[in-house]
Amino acid sequence: MAASRQPPVGELLAEARRAFREEFGAEPELAVSAPGRVNLIGEHTDYNQGLVLPMALELVTVIVGSPRADGLVSLLTSSEDADEPRRLQFPLPTAQRSLEPGIPRWANYVKGVIQHYPAAPLPGFSAVVVSSVPLGGGLSSSAALEVATYTFLQQLCPDSGTIAARAQVCQQAEHSFAGVPCGIMDQLIALLAQKDHALLIDCRSLETSLVPLSDPKLAVLITNSNVRHSLGSTGRELVSKEGFRRARHVVGEIRRTAQAAAALHRGDYRAFGRLMVESHSSLRYDYEVSCPELDELVQAALSAPGVYGSRMTGGGFGGCTVTLLEASTASQAMQHIQAQYSGTATFYLSQAADGAKVLHL
Ligand code: ADP
Ligand code: MG
Repeated sequence: MAASRQPPVGELLAEARRAFREEFGAEPELAVSAPGRVNLIGEHTDYNQGLVLPMALELVTVIVGSPRADGLVSLLTSSEDADEPRRLQFPLPTAQRSLEPGIPRWANYVKGVIQHYPAAPLPGFSAVVVSSVPLGGGLSSSAALEVATYTFLQQLCPDSGTIAARAQVCQQAEHSFAGVPCGIMDQLIALLAQKDHALLIDCRSLETSLVPLSDPKLAVLITNSNVRHSLGSTGRELVSKEGFRRARHVVGEIRRTAQAAAALHRGDYRAFGRLMVESHSSLRYDYEVSCPELDELVQAALSAPGVYGSRMTGGGFGGCTVTLLEASTASQAMQHIQAQYSGTATFYLSQAADGAKVLHL
């Protein structure tokens, strides 16, 4: 059993340049990338103003492109999982005419960032999007696309905001153009991540601190359940009938996240793993956002060799689990998990990677 292949950035860049040449008949002048992420612990705490501990993945979204003189934006995504059409053209917004979300839905993430971009004047541009982040798999391809777009726009027209302000523009794009009331975690980690580190984020103050995560004996395994049940009501009401248990999850999860960051600092993977298992139980029984497939995958991981801990990650009702384990046992663990799982799992083994970057052509 092997993990899914994660093409190096250079390979995605070459693919993007090839697609750009075919589409626009010239070499692109600019290139940027932004990563997907996995949240190690701190689930459903970001929009509750709590702590989260994500790391960036080696899965990335690359945008290549060039400015153009006619005030138009011309976009193409190479992703077969994006809705049709995969190419479109529209004029830049003006003071009189804002951009509106529409079809294709995938372009709304790009349009939203353009509409909310804080510096002017933006020129029109042609761009191609290529990504190794699975779309809709809970690894935040949406924030990767927003942050890659923002980083691309910075090359066309530099901004002067803080990192937090940039993250908020991307979050705003997702709220108002994609209709997803997400927290700020995904955008912040995509902007701020550093290789070999997880990032502890206080979602109230937006303070962040890097937590080293570079031990070659340790691995982070992401297992995609490949199921997605329709979401219950997110943005859970903390003062209703079930409010007590939900509030208990949030309070406990914030404490666990602080403890997990401290455990990682001192290299105590067992303690980290126990906190992951507690987090999963709390999400399952108190916050009620797990599902049978995620529970099965966590159960399977916990009975695999070399595993410190495992939990659902992301919003829930499907998507992925994250497992902390000894690197030497990873392929055995994947085999074990797949053998126990009633569905078909997809695996990613990732190191903690860098945040958004300008790529040199
Ligand atoms: P996740 O962020 O977990 O991957 P979301 O539903 O939040 O899932 O975002 C997925 C959506 O983002 C896709 O359905 C698509 O509309 C858009 N998207 C993300 N990456 C790309 C891409 N490379 N090309 C086109 N659309 C993308
Ligand atoms: Mg998303």
